[in-house]
Amino acid sequence: TSLVECREICKSFSGVEVLKGVNLSLDKGDVLAIIGGNGAGKSTLMKIIMGMYSKDKGELIIEGNTVDVMNPSKALKNGIYLVPQEPLLFPNMTVEENIFIGLPGNKGENLQFLKNTLDFLDWDIDLDRQAMTLSIAEQQLVEILKGLVRKSKVLILDEPTSSLTYNEVSSLFKLINKLREDGIGIVYITHRLTEVFEIANKIVILRDGRVTLEGSVSEFTEADLIKGLLPENVEISKY
Ligand code: ADP
Ligand code: MG
Ligand code: MG
Repeated sequence: TSLVECREICKSFSGVEVLKGVNLSLDKGDVLAIIGGNGAGKSTLMKIIMGMYSKDKGELIIEGNTVDVMNPSKALKNGIYLVPQEPLLFPNMTVEENIFIGLPGNKGENLQFLKNTLDFLDWDIDLDRQAMTLSIAEQQLVEILKGLVRKSKVLILDEPTSSLTYNEVSSLFKLINKLREDGIGIVYITHRLTEVFEIANKIVILRDGRVTLEGSVSEFTEADLIKGLLPENVEISKY
């Protein structure tokens, strides 16, 4: 069974249809790239999966179970974690405090799980550092760790490379590949076509709330993706 499946999801805001029957499925170990221009409906779709918006129509299925009403805490309990585009850490708290904030359970066990995760990811970060001293890439890692210690199975990354340097992007991709080895599913929202070929195995292109292209990344060329992004009657050669 898929980690997350969307079937014919529709959503309108004040009578304007923003999602017009969107389908997608994310399996264990998938990196599913979602691309689309501004206003295509990417964030709206993610917010529906996260339970921040309600859907008007369609089905949201998490690990085989249809979820009628999603909300953010239910999404978290169901293993879905959104890594925000702008990290939202508490600057005066340490890395460790930020990671464990609001997390129930045994402190020692949680810390051991975090240390094992850091080992597995081959990452070294000083847990006692103040969050305000971290680079954007390190803040992003802390956000990802927040999801992992909550035993999330699905991470949604919203344009994760937009503020990263070239080397930081390579480190992030290494980390993503480790996570997929471990069976985590990743939804990867991006504007950058080259990244799709570098990191994703599946793709969904949204245009005006509809899926214009979807499938296995290996089936497509960059020209196919551009075609999916552009309105029907536009010639690629003009761009
Ligand atoms: P993307 O993330 O692909 O850029 P969005 O999902 O943010 O696109 O937006 C898709 C459309 O839905 C846009 O036209 C946007 O204005 C509209 N929209 C998104 N959220 C709301 C909202 N809360 N209220 C009204 N309109 C919204
Ligand atoms: Mg955007
Ligand atoms: Mg968006």
